Amino acid sequence: MSNYDYDLFVIGAGSGGVRAARMSASYGARVGIAEDRYLGGTCVNVGCVPKKLFVYASHVSEEIHNAKGFGWDIAHTTFDWSKLINNKNAEIKRLNGVYKNLLDNTGVETIYGRATIVDDHTVEIDGKQFTAERLLVATGGWPMVPDIPGKEYVISSNEAFFLESLPKKIIIVGGGYIAVEFAGIFNGLGVDTTLLYRGPLFLRGFDQDLRTTLAEEMQKKGINIKFNSNISDIEKTDDHLIATLEDGARLEADQVMYATGRIPMTKDLGLEKVGIKLDEKNAIKVNEDYQTNVPSIYAIGDVTDRVNLTPVALAEGMVLAKRFFGNADKPVDYSDIPTCVFSQPNMSTVGLTEEQAREKYTDIDIYKSKFTPMKYSLSDNDEKTLMKMIVDKITDRVIGVHMLGPDAGEIIQGIGIAMKAGARKADFDSTIGIHPTAAEEFVTMREPVKA
Ligand code: FAD
Ligand code: NDP
Repeated sequence: MSNYDYDLFVIGAGSGGVRAARMSASYGARVGIAEDRYLGGTCVNVGCVPKKLFVYASHVSEEIHNAKGFGWDIAHTTFDWSKLINNKNAEIKRLNGVYKNLLDNTGVETIYGRATIVDDHTVEIDGKQFTAERLLVATGGWPMVPDIPGKEYVISSNEAFFLESLPKKIIIVGGGYIAVEFAGIFNGLGVDTTLLYRGPLFLRGFDQDLRTTLAEEMQKKGINIKFNSNISDIEKTDDHLIATLEDGARLEADQVMYATGRIPMTKDLGLEKVGIKLDEKNAIKVNEDYQTNVPSIYAIGDVTDRVNLTPVALAEGMVLAKRFFGNADKPVDYSDIPTCVFSQPNMSTVGLTEEQAREKYTDIDIYKSKFTPMKYSLSDNDEKTLMKMIVDKITDRVIGVHMLGPDAGEIIQGIGIAMKAGARKADFDSTIGIHPTAAEEFVTMREPVKA
């Protein structure tokens, strides 16, 4: 046992920090963790969890609309924003308690307050110092709003989760996960929604076919999407905001939300005191073992700005705990990470896009299917589902699978396992479908599309 107060001290009780702390403690290590805002971090408090609850809430309006075709007469519906916020807050409070119990029950000592690093083995919280053999920085990220005149009037996702009232009209700026998900959320809740993205097509990096089809579907649902568009300044009048676009057009709204990316939380942490190296985006630089250039200090999760997803932060925390205090473990496998944009419809993906596959492989087959799902056959909803599979012709290996449609995230999770197991197209072909589902299409696509 070391002479330090702890074997491991973690800064930040979010997805990665909590996992590393409690796994380490379960191996018998003496662990402390500091949290200055909320247990569970971004994901639980202002990220994945409340976002998904909002997506469910928002999608109810479409379910009600579709219900007519199935014979339901739902004459009068109302939506109460404050009820949604209160219920969401109660659920998050419950989850905060679950996280507290997880830490307490494994013997992790939780210290509430802002931690700063004092030296290679010491942190300070509210004037009190704690020493540890190893320090782990898992402080996550924070929304970035570009410097434009009127920046003070805008909200980010952080505030969107706690608005006192539902806006009538909102402008959302950005073309990443958060902007696209929130455009769907607000639109489904009846808000007049405009999405502005500076480039020609949002969700850069995802498969082009799916991006184009998602844009069409979102527009069909009433979202006003403006590509190649950005705000140059925002003015506030008595009761609304006026955004002037770079082309001179003026748009009125009662909220403007920026979802233009997140920056790693490395400011005022004392990193400069110990000389920890950051990259050009201020993310902490780490080697393959999540070790910074200071050997006793490690970093995982969004603060390292690599793959900013909760399951990745969890996997990193787990591997680190095992390496420190358990049996040496395999490193995190960053290949073929499945992901889902919780847009309406969902867009989920694993492996290479068609564009990436064409660059990397000489000979590929593309299988594609676009259809109106049975779910909508008795309604006037003509939302299209798009499924796409990319196969390396030489080895028959499936190298990319993409889906736009209801529950795409649920479906692609299973396909991610098949891909990890090295599935070939022949394995998909010999799998019997579950009928009638949309997912069975993945095992019945027989003819590649013509190149
Ligand atoms: P965090 O979870 O951010 O935790 C960091 C913690 O450190 C925070 O609690 C913070 O308060 C604390 N902290 C910071 N500085 C200090 C300090 N000096 N002292 C003490 N404590 C400190 N990912 C998904 O996989 N699926 C999704 O659907 C999804 N949806 C998202 C939706 C939104 C709106 C956002 C913003 C993110 C979403 N993400 C999603 C991303 C996901 O939330 C992050 O990747 C994940 O939370 C990163 O975990 P982390 O442990 O690195 O950091
Ligand atoms: P992203 O990095 O995904 O997207 C940022 C968007 O903002 C991009 O479209 C970018 O454009 C645009 N942008 C950046 N700077 C500016 C600017 N100055 N003016 C106008 N537009 C700008 O960030 P998000 O905030 O959407 O999400 C952060 C991360 O959180 C995600 O990348 C993801 O890792 C995670 N997340 C995951 C979710 C999930 O798993 N479902 C949901 C939500 C978040 P360009 O493309 O041109 O650079």
